[in-house]
Amino acid sequence: MKNVFKTYPNGVGAIYDLDLNIEKGDFVFIIGGSGSGKSTLIKMLYREEKPSRGEIIVGGVNVAKLRNSKVYKLRRKLGVVFQDYKLLPKLTVYENVAFALEVTGADNKTIRKRVVSVLDKVGLKDKIKEYPDKLSGGEQQRVAIARAIVNNPKILICDEPTGNLDPKISMEIMEILESVNKDGTTILMVTHDINIVEKFKKRVIALKDGRLVKNYERGYFKREDL
Ligand code: ADP
Repeated sequence: MKNVFKTYPNGVGAIYDLDLNIEKGDFVFIIGGSGSGKSTLIKMLYREEKPSRGEIIVGGVNVAKLRNSKVYKLRRKLGVVFQDYKLLPKLTVYENVAFALEVTGADNKTIRKRVVSVLDKVGLKDKIKEYPDKLSGGEQQRVAIARAIVNNPKILICDEPTGNLDPKISMEIMEILESVNKDGTTILMVTHDINIVEKFKKRVIALKDGRLVKNYERGYFKREDL
């Protein structure tokens, strides 16, 4: 991101003059108080919002300039995980994950293999036929992660993925995310949970009032600084 500004149509400024470079394979926490611009920042990466000014390159694609008709190509390079899981309630675990692959036109055999493999990775192979409302919050989030990674995305964007989960389950989710990162996927994770930020020593970016105010390299984060 280079020289990025975002002002919403109602005149509210959300991001000011943001410069940020995230390397392939990195794991980055994005922290900051409510209204500091975290969601706006990540929404611009998957083109839910467009910057008002500046350049945003994601995996070689200038997303600020990308035509609406090409946004689907960007989305295939990305996986997104939300705080509230956003699973489809009328589909089974298998179908929720398979759906993300079906839209890419993959054949049934490939879909079956991939879906079983990612559900195994998140430890949910035995819940394949369940519906989301039969699962705990942690299990639902694991399904959401499986769905987000089933396309083998280059980047996984997580918006408060542990926001609704207790500390023990949050740790399990973090271990899955670390393992996805070890497989080579770049991870950006918005979080409020300073305990997680402290425990998992990653790069940390702090926003305040739409500006990047702190940028800690891996292992240098200090809670006292905030
Ligand atoms: P955070 O995720 O850190 O809570 P946001 O990116 O959601 O912050 O919000 C940053 C600022 O932009 C806030 O002042 C918020 O009210 C404003 N904002 C966010 N979304 C919109 C929108 N769709 N329209 C107008 N203002 C918005």
